[in-house]
Amino acid sequence: MIPYGMQDINQDDIDAVHSVLAGTHLTQGDKVPEFEKVISDLVSAQHAVAVNSATSALHIACLSLGVGKGDLVWTSPISFVASSNCALYCGAQVDFVDIDYYTSNMCVSALQAKLEHHRANNLPMPKVVIPVHMAGYSCDMQGIKRLADEYAFYVIEDASHAIGAQYQNHAVGCCEFSDITVFSFHPVKIITTAEGGMATTNHAKYAETMRLLRSHGVEKNDKIQQQGGWCYEQSMLGFNYRMTDIQAALGVSQSKRLGQFINRRQECAKRYFEYLQNLPIELPPLEAITISSWHLFVIKILNKDRRDIFEALRKERIGVHVHYIPIYKQPYYQRLGFSENYCPQAERYYASALSIPIFHAMTNDQQDEVIEKIAEVLV
Ligand SMILES: *Cc1c(COP(=O)(O)O)cnc(C)c1O
Repeated sequence: MIPYGMQDINQDDIDAVHSVLAGTHLTQGDKVPEFEKVISDLVSAQHAVAVNSATSALHIACLSLGVGKGDLVWTSPISFVASSNCALYCGAQVDFVDIDYYTSNMCVSALQAKLEHHRANNLPMPKVVIPVHMAGYSCDMQGIKRLADEYAFYVIEDASHAIGAQYQNHAVGCCEFSDITVFSFHPVKIITTAEGGMATTNHAKYAETMRLLRSHGVEKNDKIQQQGGWCYEQSMLGFNYRMTDIQAALGVSQSKRLGQFINRRQECAKRYFEYLQNLPIELPPLEAITISSWHLFVIKILNKDRRDIFEALRKERIGVHVHYIPIYKQPYYQRLGFSENYCPQAERYYASALSIPIFHAMTNDQQDEVIEKIAEVLV
């Protein structure tokens, strides 16, 4: 099976992990701060906080912005469930803003219309909006930021797909148009730490709160230790969301090849654009304002039933997938009261979307096979 995505581990990565294992600190050593520095430099953000998953990062990002009971968080329905679960962890309520069918990202005019509707009808306003850079293609962050200023909400970018991507010539994660950005290092994403995530921000206060929350809300500093060398203080209710040094070492090593990973993914995308252009499908968005990291390559099936194409390609050992089932369709969310077809554009997208293989280690021969099989099943 040619998977839709997979990690690429080389000898340097293995050596980096080995050297941590052979050392004294498997966790809470110097590799985590080193990895944080690598990522904050890479995306030009002032602070980076490493955690054990993007899910944890989203949770503590929400908490650091004060999300709690009685608050409202809005996100995109076309995402992994973690993008909205984070609000529920905080005791807040969640709601969904429909997508733009072409980009599959949160639609800025739908967001504006929903904000206007809520304001005009005295409905609760969102405290945080979480746009998701679907497949590695940046949302219209300038448009979202304009509304954030007008309607006074915070913005957390879910950039789980988008490390290495650019928007308006800046790295995604620089937080020019947001308060916090979150990355995932799950093996299926662009770079991996096996499990792992990172939050970047230009606000020292959010970074400090997230650092506390990832480790029980416990701190140690000179002032506290004046009361005794054993002393630490718990000032808030935190978690154990720490990344290990083993993971961070892998992250540092993987980061060195981020440029290479992105270049190869771009090459693969370019070949797909070239060889799939005459088929009865829609290709992913491509605009100069964004340089995608090409975490996913999502095509839309126009002339056939998507399920038939999915099954036919799986039978040919092409590991296609569907990203994503609209979150509000999940039984858990249905029980929260969302209707089955809550967002029309998300429904339209979901009916036809198919992720086809794209990853750094995919060879041209493998890609040719994917292209050939797609052409075959579509006739
Ligand atoms: C993968 C993913 C997450 C969760 O990442 P983990 O590191 O597995 O917790 C969140 N949001 C999106 C959009 C993702 O793709």
